[in-house]
Amino acid sequence: MKQWSLVFDNKFVQDLPVDPIIENYPRQVRGACFSWVTPQQVSMPSLLAYSKEAAELIDLSESHCQTSYFTEVFSGNTQLDGMQPYASSYGGHQFGNWAGQLGDGRAINLGEVCNQKGQRWAVQLKGAGPTPYSRTADGLAVLRSSLREFLCSEAMYHLGIQTTRALSLITTGEQVMRDVMYSGDPQLEPGAVVCRLAPSFTRFGHIQYYAQQNEALLKQFVDHTLRVDFPHLSDPSPSVYLQLFEEVCLTSCTMVVNWMRVGFVHGVMNTDNMSILGLTIDYGPYGWLEAFDINWTPNTTDKDYKRYAYGEQGKITHWNLYQLANALYPLIKDAKPLEKLLDDYADNYASQWLLMMMEKLGCSSVITGSDSDLIQQLVDFFKLHETDMTIFFRRLADLPLDQETFDVAAAVKQLTPAFYPESFEGEAEALLISWLNNYAKRCRADVLMPVERKELMNRVNPKFVLRNYLAQQAIEQSEKGDQHLLNELLDVLKKPYDEQPGKEHFNQKRPEWAKHKVGCSMLSCSS
Ligand code: AMP
Ligand code: MG
Repeated sequence: MKQWSLVFDNKFVQDLPVDPIIENYPRQVRGACFSWVTPQQVSMPSLLAYSKEAAELIDLSESHCQTSYFTEVFSGNTQLDGMQPYASSYGGHQFGNWAGQLGDGRAINLGEVCNQKGQRWAVQLKGAGPTPYSRTADGLAVLRSSLREFLCSEAMYHLGIQTTRALSLITTGEQVMRDVMYSGDPQLEPGAVVCRLAPSFTRFGHIQYYAQQNEALLKQFVDHTLRVDFPHLSDPSPSVYLQLFEEVCLTSCTMVVNWMRVGFVHGVMNTDNMSILGLTIDYGPYGWLEAFDINWTPNTTDKDYKRYAYGEQGKITHWNLYQLANALYPLIKDAKPLEKLLDDYADNYASQWLLMMMEKLGCSSVITGSDSDLIQQLVDFFKLHETDMTIFFRRLADLPLDQETFDVAAAVKQLTPAFYPESFEGEAEALLISWLNNYAKRCRADVLMPVERKELMNRVNPKFVLRNYLAQQAIEQSEKGDQHLLNELLDVLKKPYDEQPGKEHFNQKRPEWAKHKVGCSMLSCSS
């Protein structure tokens, strides 16, 4: 078997206290940040896909990825020299309630690779077997959810949005029992392991869990976080902890504004699913907006309260930051500056969101008094008539808006492929026409020239996103042993802002069959 090695420097396990128990059984772990665990052996690992770009982060070439050794290592069957597998403890608020200990229940960290550029990449397997944090669950993952995590992580990266990365998608050869919609009808599904990479996998919930225990453990963990994740913030002190919080507020804000821009709905924004680095983390029952609907959530568990719906994500980030501020408070002991930073987050989110929406419309960064109204009028139209967000904004960039050539009827026609159904009249049509006239006027008054407008719009409005039904089709093919669509999507989603002639079929509205199909518009946490 062709072999190779990686350079590890495992700061997490070097710096932080370990659980003294080494047997692997579910338990409460107090006073420690991690437990040693070993990935479960699997019978028939098979590599379905890998990300060439993610592999480069840890100095692996495509020829490394194509070795059977790669599949053995990233399925968890073989360990490289320097790997020290462990699961970390963390807690979190789930759907607004403190849930106590959660932890890496089905994630096993292998170590931290130092690449040739001197960057640190933590390497983690998801679905490699139980840990002390697995509670009553099995620590495993199925192909359906692993494929969704693999593809979406890489799609997010190529959209230019902060995210954990996905190196590989490997089926294990084992069967895993899951009840997809919690309907009392469990089925066996193919098991899989995804290897994820991130500078670190630290969550708000880590800091919360240690704050719940004692100040010394909290300080030890936060000081470690400063050294590893925020090396520019040295010499821990109350003001440095405040700076840390300020940075988390800023990066979280950027992340969520970007989600809003591309129509991504995370689905489970519990505090244990919030990264301290502002990375999109834990791709579970996420979804992409088809129709622009601020109340839409793909997560059936949340269908009554819609706590994590598209339009709530900015506010929920604020709520989560509030919980992080509470956890950091013992190190700062002054509520005022924390409250100020939380208020700043709210202001910053509102202004960043407005700027982002105006960019989607192709307007420069100089906001005018009526811009909020222009956006509101468009949202009102979207409420009246179901409209595909991605197709709408992409087509909008093609409209000629100058006085001489602007023809509102032609503009409506040009936008037609974005509508479900395509023809409509009455109040919705009148509102669209009125909005288009206002919009054309606003663009003419803008400093951007028409070519600049189009160029800006095509930079912020992707043509290709991981439409819910496309992911589902890739899953169905993969489950039958055909990886063609999975790899084609991986490829198309590398250039989401490019026209990519010949790939238009990946930029089509949701077909009728997908409207109410499980896996397309309805997802659960069962993965
Ligand atoms: P999530 O909602 O996926 O972010 O997970 C919440 C918690 O449940 C985390 O502590 C996970 O590690 C744990 N968890 C989720 N699925 C499993 C599983 N299949 N086995 C063990 N733990 C799990
Ligand atoms: Mg999670």
